[in-house]
Amino acid sequence: MPADQWFRNAVIYSLNVETFMDGNGDGCGDFEGLNGRLDYLESLGIDALWLAPFQPTPGRDNGYDIRDYYAVDPRFGSSGDFVEFMHEAEGRGIRVLIDLVVNHTSDQHPWFKGARGGRGAPRHDWYVWAGKRPSDWQSGMVFPGVQRTTWTFERRAREYYFHRFYDFEPDLNMANRRVREEIRRIMGFWLQLGIAGFRVDAVPFVIEVPSPDGSSAGLDFDWLREMREFLQWRVGNAILLGEANVPPAESGSYFAAGDGLHMMFNFWVNQHLFWSLASGDARPLARAVEQTRPTSPAMHWANFLRNHDELDIGHLPDDAKGLVFESFGPRPSMQIYGRGIRRRLAPMLGDRRRIELAKSLLLSLPGTPVLRYGDEIGMGENLRLKERMAIRTPMQWTDEPHAGFTPAERPVVPPVDRGLYAYEAVNVESQRRDPDSLLRWMIRMIRLRKECPEIGWGEWRIVRTNRTAVLAMLYEWRERRLLCVHNLAHAPCEARLKLDVDRGDRLVNLIEDDEAIADDRGVHHLELEPYAYRWYRVGGTG
Ligand code: MG
Repeated sequence: MPADQWFRNAVIYSLNVETFMDGNGDGCGDFEGLNGRLDYLESLGIDALWLAPFQPTPGRDNGYDIRDYYAVDPRFGSSGDFVEFMHEAEGRGIRVLIDLVVNHTSDQHPWFKGARGGRGAPRHDWYVWAGKRPSDWQSGMVFPGVQRTTWTFERRAREYYFHRFYDFEPDLNMANRRVREEIRRIMGFWLQLGIAGFRVDAVPFVIEVPSPDGSSAGLDFDWLREMREFLQWRVGNAILLGEANVPPAESGSYFAAGDGLHMMFNFWVNQHLFWSLASGDARPLARAVEQTRPTSPAMHWANFLRNHDELDIGHLPDDAKGLVFESFGPRPSMQIYGRGIRRRLAPMLGDRRRIELAKSLLLSLPGTPVLRYGDEIGMGENLRLKERMAIRTPMQWTDEPHAGFTPAERPVVPPVDRGLYAYEAVNVESQRRDPDSLLRWMIRMIRLRKECPEIGWGEWRIVRTNRTAVLAMLYEWRERRLLCVHNLAHAPCEARLKLDVDRGDRLVNLIEDDEAIADDRGVHHLELEPYAYRWYRVGGTG
């Protein structure tokens, strides 16, 4: 039954408690504030939240450096506030996913503090050490240009420790059975508090087996199976949503034929989508969608436009990379790590119609859409902030000081207060009142997406057209058919296509009052405006 795999037809909304809403007036977002905004999220129509890490942290990597897995950072409230939030979310039918960041801990975690004592010290073997500096100490950095090495000398231990990310984020030693037991305990703890699953951070690094001679012994997919098995024994319908930016040929293993991840972010489609947006040519996106076609029912994608990180285009060919940089992040200050763009969606695309096109694609690509807070109102970035903080500014609620995010004098992160995307111009309150706003449009489109379970559940194929700018996809599920047509170019065009399905001659537009009838030969002639997006029910809405 469809309801058993709730994530297939869900709309997920991602946010960071720190920057969403400040409830106690100290300048920092918190669970009390988030609680007060659940009505907003409910009326937006989302099914699940994905919360960025909210556990105690020294805060050197936006919370991804955790120093206690079993608590709530006091800046965000107490454990009681968290449970209160879970209760309120449940009452609204909103499921909660949380980040599982176990590739590494903070170097301030008591485990690492102990491990620093050297061989024989408590939990020394919970981390990855090498007596001599490995030959590849300067390769494999996650943040090139900012991070210099993956092995750092620890004076007290007189050894080098391995860190795939920053040097203050030592990798846990997954080969150690006791580390795995502890990770299961962390999962069990939060599952017991009612969460619906985990967004698993940096999956390839969680399962990689590094060795002290510098070579990687490969990936241990059994570890993923263990996590899945444990999760499912504890909570039958909880899920693992994995972050793994790997090419299509490698992604199948992460689903482990139904014993691994339930869902993975489709980074491949994400990058090719921006290539298509930049070129006005739908073919790179069409290719990427085909290349990531699920080969088993166990595979399911989570699609996204922007997330909390840079727009990573590292997998694109050089000429495409150049084009995307030139189109969406031409200034050096907009680029980062040599592979990405640290900007939000709205300023990159600019044109309202083009933003709608991108969001319509997100909602209609095969899989589950994951939205980023603030993108529903078209928030911008603040390039004066360091690295990825540029896109992690407070939610813009009103045109009051600090965007209505906090009454405090100093917000934890300054909101965007200059230019076209300043909170005076872009905020929830004004868009709620305006029937033509992006927010109101988004609410209608989310509702439409949920009325089209063909996308999450059905079979799909790409329909050939006479236009390279046009992507046409046909979804079928339980006798229902949906045709989504997108014109990625700035120029209008007439697209011709033939469906060759039952009652395929009549198409009813689900967004606007319009119908398309095929000619005598069964061919549809669709007049598409620039950046057009059309969702058609095939054969009528009955
Ligand atoms: Mg606060």
